[in-house]
Amino acid sequence: MQRKVVLSDYEIPKEWYNILPDLPKPLPPPIDPETRAPVSPAKLERIFAKELLKQEMSMDRWIPIPEEVREVYALWRPTPLYRAIGLERYLKTPAKIYYKFEGVSPPGSHKPNTAVAQAYYNMKEGQERLTTETGAGQWGSALAFGCMLFNLKCTVYMVRASYDQKPYRKIMMQVWGAEVLPSPSDRTNFGRSILKSDPQNPGSLGIAISEAIEDALMHEGTKYTLGSVLNHVLMHQTVQGLEAKKQLEALDEYPDVVAGCVGGGSSFSGLFWPFYYDKVTKKAEKDIEFIATEPTACPTLTKGIYTYDHGDTAKLTPLLAMYTVGSDFIPPPIHAGGLRYHGDAPTLCLLAKEGHIKAVAYDQVSVFEAATTFARTEGIVPAPEPSHTIRYVIDEALRCKRTGEKKTILFNLCGHGHFDMHAYDEFFAGKLPKYEYPENAIKNSIEKLKRLYPWIEELPYLRRSV
Ligand SMILES: *Cc1c(COP(=O)(O)O)cnc(C)c1O
Repeated sequence: MQRKVVLSDYEIPKEWYNILPDLPKPLPPPIDPETRAPVSPAKLERIFAKELLKQEMSMDRWIPIPEEVREVYALWRPTPLYRAIGLERYLKTPAKIYYKFEGVSPPGSHKPNTAVAQAYYNMKEGQERLTTETGAGQWGSALAFGCMLFNLKCTVYMVRASYDQKPYRKIMMQVWGAEVLPSPSDRTNFGRSILKSDPQNPGSLGIAISEAIEDALMHEGTKYTLGSVLNHVLMHQTVQGLEAKKQLEALDEYPDVVAGCVGGGSSFSGLFWPFYYDKVTKKAEKDIEFIATEPTACPTLTKGIYTYDHGDTAKLTPLLAMYTVGSDFIPPPIHAGGLRYHGDAPTLCLLAKEGHIKAVAYDQVSVFEAATTFARTEGIVPAPEPSHTIRYVIDEALRCKRTGEKKTILFNLCGHGHFDMHAYDEFFAGKLPKYEYPENAIKNSIEKLKRLYPWIEELPYLRRSV
């Protein structure tokens, strides 16, 4: 049995796939709460690279990947596709399980697929420095890596609590030459104003976003970057699905199910979009299912409400049409740090709303049980985020065992868990609590939002997509 399919450098995709022209309905645009109209591109150009904004709104189905970016991709791409032989035998399932492993990138996750592209376009446009925020440090380390390769300076505002408690990713960013500041910092007006009244403030992603944007706005030659949610970010991730399709083809396989975890939706979208393209253009021979997995502690797709909400806690970003548990959501301290975002990518939410994607949620104890089973049968220690998908895959493979179904399942193992040993340690010690985010907290939060913006319900874009 073939365990692994690898491709050569020549087979790194030459184009990214853009889903916008193939969505079932037009995507509701980002709304500026001041004007109650779509955000003007001029306003966004102050913080984002021009080419990235062009890609954000492009209706071209295929966007060429610059040669310089493909050359960097070749450091770790094409990534391997594995058949989970060890896991299949352990479960005694008739299902076939395949996974695309993105943990082989130098930062250890899928995030450099977009970080490298974003750094490249900013360099081409003459920028000197990029800013961003990071929580646990996965996005920050990917951006530090991308900036290093294209000789850009990189400033990362890292949530103070993670900066103090999880130093290893911070050090990794510093190895690649980035400047890492604990947020709130004394570098920005916003940070200084918080430190003045509360010098011990532990920080939050919302505060870090505000600081990174302020820094980009105040300095020439400096732009801001995001690691998920936006259309162009998800599009850069499609190298995963495009490669996986070729790799499965080499085995004469096609999946019945494509599954992935969702924090903002970039890793999952990167894998399933190319298969969605087959489905809508009727190129697929099978009716494929798309499964999104998330934590019960942050149940955006399974319990959230589809409406316009801010992308951040500080209400600085435009309003985005998405499933949300409320932008004032305070993330419970679960170990899948990458999955604690209150909303999701607008494209993913539209597809979920239209019934193209099913979502399932798991608590972290059952997730770490699945992660451990995977490590003990496949050898690779998975990050907590994709372990939500591993939970789903194991359950589905066991269901197939009962029914005798010979399903072919594909998922992405979007990162390794080498920086998550503390979480495994707590799991083994029986110290991991189960969290379930209460539904009434979601309702209260959305009611508050609707009191703040009573006109949201009347926006034509939201009605059009219902
Ligand atoms: C950032 C991250 C996620 C969550 O973000 P998505 O945009 O949903 O992919 C999931 N897994 C890993 C390993 C991450 O680094």
